[in-house]
Amino acid sequence: MLITCNWLIRIAECILKMKVGAIAIFPFILVPASARMNDTLLNHEKIHLRQQLELLIIPFYIWYAIAFFRKGYLNISFEKEAYMNEKDLSYLKNRKLYSFRRYI
Ligand SMILES: [Zn+2]
Repeated sequence: MLITCNWLIRIAECILKMKVGAIAIFPFILVPASARMNDTLLNHEKIHLRQQLELLIIPFYIWYAIAFFRKGYLNISFEKEAYMNEKDLSYLKNRKLYSFRRYI
């Protein structure tokens, strides 16, 4: 479910120091009011929702935060999996459980 949420997007942009098109916070995908959602971005965020569900949500955020501060945004296994597969719109249909582990 898509929800417009400018303030949380701005906080994420301050933390990540980059433009944020959307944020997946299970079970929602938060987007700025000015968002131009496309299939690739939507698929990227859906991959994160799947990752969150696999890790029972809260552990995902803890793991994500630790990895972010240790490795940086683009080296987080969750982001690597999402970026590598965001253009494959059938990826989630064929994805195996805990596939993010391949990107650690
Ligand atoms: Zn992402």
